[in-house]
Order: sequence, then structure tokens, then C-alpha cells
Amino acid sequence: MRRNRNVKIVATLGPASSDYNMIRALHEAGADVFRLNMSHGTHDKIGELHATIRQVEEDLDSPIGILADLQGPKLRVGEFANGAEELIEGADFRLDLEDAAGDVSRVRLPHPEIFAALEPGASLLVNDGKIRLKVKDCGADFANCEVVIGGTISNRKGVNVPDVLLPLAALSEKDLADLEFVCELGVDWLALSFVQRAKDVWDARDLVRGRAAVLSKIEKPSAVSSFDEILDASDGIMVARGDLGVELPVQNVPPIQKRLVRRCRAAAKPVIVATQMLESMIESPMPTRAEVSDVATAIYEGSDAIMLSAESAAGEYPIEAVTTMDNVAQEVESDPTYTEIIESSRVASRTSVADGIVAAAREIAETTEIKAICCFTQSGTTALLTARERPRVPIIAMTSQVSTARRLALTWGTFCVKTGELDRFKGAVVSAARAARSSGLATETDQIVVTAGVPFNIPGTTNILRVAPCEERLIYASDPE
Ligand code: PGA
Ligand code: MN
Repeated sequence: MRRNRNVKIVATLGPASSDYNMIRALHEAGADVFRLNMSHGTHDKIGELHATIRQVEEDLDSPIGILADLQGPKLRVGEFANGAEELIEGADFRLDLEDAAGDVSRVRLPHPEIFAALEPGASLLVNDGKIRLKVKDCGADFANCEVVIGGTISNRKGVNVPDVLLPLAALSEKDLADLEFVCELGVDWLALSFVQRAKDVWDARDLVRGRAAVLSKIEKPSAVSSFDEILDASDGIMVARGDLGVELPVQNVPPIQKRLVRRCRAAAKPVIVATQMLESMIESPMPTRAEVSDVATAIYEGSDAIMLSAESAAGEYPIEAVTTMDNVAQEVESDPTYTEIIESSRVASRTSVADGIVAAAREIAETTEIKAICCFTQSGTTALLTARERPRVPIIAMTSQVSTARRLALTWGTFCVKTGELDRFKGAVVSAARAARSSGLATETDQIVVTAGVPFNIPGTTNILRVAPCEERLIYASDPE
């Protein structure tokens, strides 16, 4: 489905959005990619959601991206005899490996790897950072802490350890089973939670074996400090502001977001800005001014995609939330300041012929009456490079690979059209012109830019740029074979 905007919308599915009619309505309202959260839901349920999305895709004849988000190594405390305890600021609190139920003085933390890595002075954050503990002394099976910020601690609450690089397996037993399940199911993107280092991503790639593109969630300080290597290892990035704002002071999140978005664009890899974008719309049909501003900021920065979490998964107004993002995007992108910002942050990269061709395509498209850049792409790489240029005209990615079309659902400004197998350039130009006309982007009197690699079907050979008429008679009359 062609949108009147460049930025893409990712909507998380959940109890509020699991039937056919709702998923179809969300796609029609603007959701380009659906996120399946593996922290919730059985394999049966995930399989059902996947099948429903593919049904919508078929019925609307519109490629849809599916992103499966693995839970990752989330740490949790054990249980309390009373279910919960009140921790008072200044009190002592001990974490250990003992089996006994917890009380106001201690609780089990069933992760020996953490004790091995802790050092006096380290902070432990419990329950989304609401409680803060500081390690006074520690050993192989315990940590004696001081309560720095008190609050209610209860059964199985999550624990973040921001200061320490944890020697934890990046993928738990559950993650390994989930990974195999969703790869076999046929998702387009696999998101890795709590990535700490590039090796976590390379290891996951070995297991994925190309069955899905791999996206790293940046939600730990260690991931921020080794971001360049993580980006190298990944096909895409999520700025996961929820956990990031717990592991780091919240005011550090906006500058990190800006930096990561720019680096991803320079690397021609899609980046999602995620979490709390329209949080109040979980319960209200209207967003706050601050939320609208936050969504707008992510779009002005040139993010590939913006994401809804609980707003679409468990809120009362999933469709209104997607519509709000769509409206904000159309408004921002028609602002001349948007164009100025996007164009002033362009990075000139000229290391390959393809880089030169996409840059030339953009320049030609912007200096004359060109309505679209149509790029023939098998792996999606040429479309990613074209999107990095952030051209003013829409990008039509022409591909015979449905998996490529689905992955590109996350990429800025790219609209995918499926082609048959091609062998002649003239036929390719005819199909590009048809795609531009039937999507409403061009009429018979317009021109388009077509890029392709000839001979066809050899990846990485982009070597042709043609300014073509949209009228078929003219293409047949003028084009070489
Ligand atoms: P989550 O990740 O919703 O899976 O926790 C996103 C975030 O932390 O922002
Ligand atoms: Mn998270």
C-alpha cells in the first residue's frame, strides 16, 4: 500500500489487536510493519498472528513486514514470603542464591553470572528503575546492598545492571527456541533484546542463517559504547528508549537517539525509534502535545520508522494511534524545514558504482520533472542505498523477491512493487513505468528514473541509470533491448 509519507510505522500486536479485522484496519490506517513480542504469547498464538498478517497481505496485495522481538536475557528476582516488601532508603538489602523465600532483608537473585561480574559501587535497578540498590560488598553467591531509592519490591520483578558488562548468554533457552520457531514460521525481521556487544549479534546471525534480517535493540550502555561494531553486525537498529532510559539517566536518551539515527542512515540500515511515543493514547483517543512533538522529532531526524508498543498492543485506541502517527508524518514531511534538515545531514559516500548511481538518480530526480526513482533490486541493497540519499521523490523498489519487499517495509520512503522474473532492460523499464502509473505517482506524460543491474539476477551489479518516459509507446520506440 503506497503511503503519502516517507517514515514507516511499526505497530506491536497484542490482546487489543489480534483478529483479522483489526490487523487489516491497522494496515489500512498506516501500519507498515507488525511487531510480535515474544515476551508474551505462546507459539500457537504467535503462529496465528503470523498467519493472519499473511492473509491480510494477500487480500490487500500489499507486502507487510513482520518483526519478531525476542525477550532476551531479562533478569528477575525470586519470590517473597509475603509477595511483596517495602524497601526503605538507607536500609541494607541482600541478594543471594539461596532458595528460601525473600523478606525485607533479602531475596533470591537466581543468576550466578551476575554475582561473578558485580563490583562494590555498582548499581542494581529493580522494577523499571523505580528502586535503586548500591552494592557494598559481594562474593560468588551474594551481594550486600544499600537501598539508595526505596519502594515496593515484589515477586519476579525485573533487574537492570547498567554499569556492568554481564557475561550472560545473549540468548536464553527460551530465546533459542523462539528464534528457531519464528525463523521457520517466516518472519522478515528478528529483533535481539539487550544486545551488549557485536559478538551477540554475530552469534545470533549464525543461528538465523539468513532466514530473517537481524535488528539490534540498543537498550544498554554497553551497546551504546560499542554501537559502531554492533551496527556493522546488524541489518537494522531499534533505539529502545524504554530500557535505555532505565539503564542510563533519561536525559541521555535524546542525544543518543539523534546520534544513532544519523549513523544508521550513513550505513544505509533502517532505524526504528521506539517506546512511549504516544503512551497516553493507551487510554485516551487524543495524544499529548509533548507526544506529538516527540513523534515529529523522530521524523525530522530522518528515522526510517516510528513504533507503537502498548498503544497498539493493549490500548483502547490502536487505530487512532496509527492515524495520529500518519497525520504527524504527513504534516512534518510537507514542512520545508524537514527537507532542509534531511538534506543538510546527507552523507556523501562514494565507494562503489552503486553509490554513484543512487546519488546521480537523486540529483536528476530533483533537478527535473521526475516523479519517482524506480530501482530494480534483488537483495534490497540498491533500495537501501537510494533511501540513504533521502530523495525528494518516492522510491519504487521493483523486486521479484517477496522477502525483499517485506524487509523493505521498514525502510524510509520505499514503496515495493513485485515484478516477474526479468531478463530484458526494455521490459524492466515498461514494468517500472506501469508501477509508477498504477500507484498514482506518474501519468503518461511524466518521466521516471530507472536504475538496474544488467545482466539481471546477479546481485550487486547496479550499473544502469535511465531517464524514461512513462508512456509505453515511447519506451518501445526509444529504448535499447
Ligand atoms: P521492550 O523493548 O518493549 O521489549 O522492552 C523496547 C524498549 O525497551 O524500549
Ligand atoms: Mn526493552
